[in-house]
Amino acid sequence: MHRQQSGRARATRETLYQLGNSLEAANDGTLDLMKATADLAFAPSGEAWKWLLTQGASTREVNGTTIATGGMASAVARGIGFLGELAQGRSVSDAAERSATNAVTLGSGLIVSATEIEACGRHEAHELGHVEQAKHFGPFYLLAYLATITGSHDSHPAEINANRQAGLNSDGSAPKGWKNPWVGCK
Ligand SMILES: [Zn+2]
Repeated sequence: MHRQQSGRARATRETLYQLGNSLEAANDGTLDLMKATADLAFAPSGEAWKWLLTQGASTREVNGTTIATGGMASAVARGIGFLGELAQGRSVSDAAERSATNAVTLGSGLIVSATEIEACGRHEAHELGHVEQAKHFGPFYLLAYLATITGSHDSHPAEINANRQAGLNSDGSAPKGWKNPWVGCK
C-alpha cells in the first residue's frame, strides 16, 4: 500500500515536472513552475492551483473571489469553453469564436476569464452565482457541474441557478431595472 502510493506520487511528480518544463519553455522561462509543480505534487491545494492559474494574468478581487484575466487564466478559460462548445456539436471555428470571451468559475476563490469582465455587470454577477454554488458544494463543485450536464450550456441547472442568484432571468438577460445584487455593486 505504502509502496504503491509512493510510486504513484513519484509518477505524478514526474508528469507535473515535465508539464512544468514545457509550460516554462512556452513562457520565456519567467515562471517559477518548479515551485508550482512541487506544490501540486506534494500539497494539492486550492492555493497551488490558484498560483499556477494566475501566472501572467491580471487579477482583481470581488467579494473575496479573484477574477483572473490574461496569461494562464485566459488560456484555461478559452480551452474549457472550446471543449464545451465542441461537446455541444459546434464546428471548430464556431467553438473557437464562441469561447474567445469565455469565463469559468473554478471554485469559490477563483474565476478565470479569457477577456476582461465588466465590474458589476451581468457576466460578473452570473459568475458570482457560480461562486455561491462552489461555496455550497466545496471540492465537489466542479464534479457536481460535470455530473449534471444535460444538453445545451444554457439549460444546465447550474447556469439557470447562477442567473437566478444574480437576479437575472433564467436565460441570463437582465429584467427591467436590474441591479447587480452582490456586495460592492450599486
Ligand atoms: Zn455559467
